[in-house]
Amino acid sequence: MATLRFLGSGDAFASGGRFQACVLLEGGPAPLMVDCGATSLHAMARAGVDPGSIGHIVVSHLHGDHFGGIPFIVLHGQFNRRQQDLHIAGPVGTGERLVRAMEVLFPGSATATRRFAVHVTELVPGEPAPFGPAVVHAVEADHASGAPSLALRIDYAGRSLAYSGDTAWTDALLDVTSGADLFVCEGYVRERRVPFHLAFETVRENLPRIGCARVVVTHMNAEMLAFTAETAPISGIMFAHDGLVLDL
Ligand SMILES: [Zn+2]
Ligand SMILES: [Zn+2]
Repeated sequence: MATLRFLGSGDAFASGGRFQACVLLEGGPAPLMVDCGATSLHAMARAGVDPGSIGHIVVSHLHGDHFGGIPFIVLHGQFNRRQQDLHIAGPVGTGERLVRAMEVLFPGSATATRRFAVHVTELVPGEPAPFGPAVVHAVEADHASGAPSLALRIDYAGRSLAYSGDTAWTDALLDVTSGADLFVCEGYVRERRVPFHLAFETVRENLPRIGCARVVVTHMNAEMLAFTAETAPISGIMFAHDGLVLDL
């Protein structure tokens, strides 16, 4: 049985004390991490997940709260005798940005000798890519991040996860949500329009079009977290929290 575990369900700003975006697919031939925010090594330690057991990470876009944990995972492997290669998939530009991030944070680390290799697969919207235990379908999201930002559909262990990353509403999302088993969707603010981000009320308005029976809202700011604490259950929508595990 494939499961989805929220290691991090927070926004970039530690709202609610939550870890940044990081979810883990398990139950297939190998685990697959989706997004890897800067706090993800802490989130793994808190959840009892060995970073050395994660061979594949796909990131939606190259902002620090979705991608900034990778240099720490590479360094952790270097100092803990990791043997398994690490495979990263992300938008075009991921390889170059990872080298730059490594060099800014830990000079010399991008070219250090290690027992394992780091391989990068760059995802092109509209071209499904086999990636370790999964097949990843990408569409272009509406979110400025210095490289293309992606929404994803990930076929894993006979199930299908749709994942918005960060984005303003775009009908391109329907290409990944239609027929998926579960949609992990940004709900950064409640109803105020914030450029390049999704408001919860926009998600709710589009629920009939999303074509996915279960929607899990994540990446919430403090106002949204307060709203979720007081609102009655909403049919078809769940709210993520760190540690939440769902059957995919
Ligand atoms: Zn972002
Ligand atoms: Zn974000």
